[in-house]
Amino acid sequence: MENLSTKTFKNEFVTTFDGDNSGNLQPRQTPGVLYSKATPTHVKAPELLAWSDKLAAELHISQPNEKDVSILGGNLVTPSMQPYAACYAGHQFGNWAGQLGDGRAITLGEWTSENESTYELQLKGAGPTPYSRRGDGRAVLRSSVREYLMSEAMFFLGVPTTRALALVSTGDQVMRDLFYDGRSAYEKGAIVMRTAPSFLRFGNFEMLAARQETSQLQKLTSWTIDKFSPHLTGENKTIAWFEEIVEKTATLMVDWIRVGFVHGVMNTDNMSILGLTIDYGPFSFLDQYDPEFTPNTTDLPGRRYAYGRQPSIGYWNLGCLASAIAPLIEDTSELSVALEKYKTIYFDKYHIMMAGKLGLDEFRKNDQVLIEDVEKTLTMLKADFTIFYQLLMTLPLTEASEEAVTAHFSPSFYDIPDRASQQSLHKITNSYIQRIKENQISPEVSQEIMRTSNPRFILRNYLLHQAIQELEKGEQNLFLKLQEAIKNPYAKDQDEFFKLRPEWANDQPGSSTLSCSS
Ligand code: AMP
Ligand code: MG
Repeated sequence: MENLSTKTFKNEFVTTFDGDNSGNLQPRQTPGVLYSKATPTHVKAPELLAWSDKLAAELHISQPNEKDVSILGGNLVTPSMQPYAACYAGHQFGNWAGQLGDGRAITLGEWTSENESTYELQLKGAGPTPYSRRGDGRAVLRSSVREYLMSEAMFFLGVPTTRALALVSTGDQVMRDLFYDGRSAYEKGAIVMRTAPSFLRFGNFEMLAARQETSQLQKLTSWTIDKFSPHLTGENKTIAWFEEIVEKTATLMVDWIRVGFVHGVMNTDNMSILGLTIDYGPFSFLDQYDPEFTPNTTDLPGRRYAYGRQPSIGYWNLGCLASAIAPLIEDTSELSVALEKYKTIYFDKYHIMMAGKLGLDEFRKNDQVLIEDVEKTLTMLKADFTIFYQLLMTLPLTEASEEAVTAHFSPSFYDIPDRASQQSLHKITNSYIQRIKENQISPEVSQEIMRTSNPRFILRNYLLHQAIQELEKGEQNLFLKLQEAIKNPYAKDQDEFFKLRPEWANDQPGSSTLSCSS
């Protein structure tokens, strides 16, 4: 175990690639470089609000002392750290947005754990960088609590994600226009220290391609392959690497669909090259099932990033990455072939995942109909996605009347279901019971598959909203409870928060709808 303040950090990214080492924090274009040196700007009074014991234990990081908290607040940079902001670009809402970069995230260095794996330690909200554009480089408590809790919650759900090690309040005030209506107000500032083996995004590669900096693009690609996919060798390794990203992205989308996660801003600058969930902003879990649901108010016109569209957006984003690395590939038709595999990979994984949610022994071709019918019925009912699947686990496996079936699932309903949806529900439960009887596994095994596929606890937006409101008043009660609840999302005794979203939260900004203001 070592302290943040005494550790010797590595700086492989900075020492490998060209950067702007002037230290100038003025917003600007930075052609020819992959990063700019950026030192965190001091904050008034950093105070530790949360520390992820589990992550710290994994990385062998000691409980933070006063000096460590200074690091977490951006007030101390130790001699072995070479802090920087990465330069990347991206497609936002389908349009090329040019250079973006880390506008408020600063990587301090790379932490080496005992098994020699390295993790970037990054402060989000640490002050301006050359990529801050018109932003202040800061983050508010509200959005920092959301990122801290949600990235850890996703980890415990078994979804690939960046992690959060610590949350500190800065003691500074940050001005934000929450509703984008000109009514700005001060909010408490905060910083999350987040970690990942790498924060590289599709956008890092798009940036170099757009600038036609092909030798840098080649270097970044080779380095990424050697570091994160060292098993790939030979002539065709760039294609093989792209295939891995296709696979990882498909896996991630299936996981999001499984747990009901909606990212909200699936721009290519928010797509991890390692297939991690990255950049927690206006995200939400589904309460009631609705493939068209988007939590992001900016996304409301087109619902591009709605829950049910995420898998196809994953494909679209991979297309952008393919175009970016095309200059490195002699026969680009191989790239198209690799990209087109996405659909098959996605659906294969999706079918297996859905079989798991339903407790089936395997996915059989005919199960496609059952899965589609379940989803159609859920859409009609607008039932609570999480509660519905928990109730499916306790459904008596003998045919029952329509009334009995409706009654069984009623704890998952926000509204009284109409006749058509009740009939549909009755019909699918009958088919479901028939199918379960054909299982070649024991009921106990089937139950166990369902239990591990269907979370009982999800970090609903209204809970985050409540915890944040309390924290802003200096109360930690719910925040502490949620930190514990996220650790066991599949536990059978997760009952305290096992309920429908309360009515007060239906149209509550910051709960059911979120802006990008963070
Ligand atoms: P996002 O949509 O949150 O992924 O952010 C898009 C871009 O805006 C990224 O380059 C961010 O670093 C940048 N950005 C967001 N908020 C701020 C802020 N408060 N100050 C500076 N840059 C920001
Ligand atoms: Mg981002």
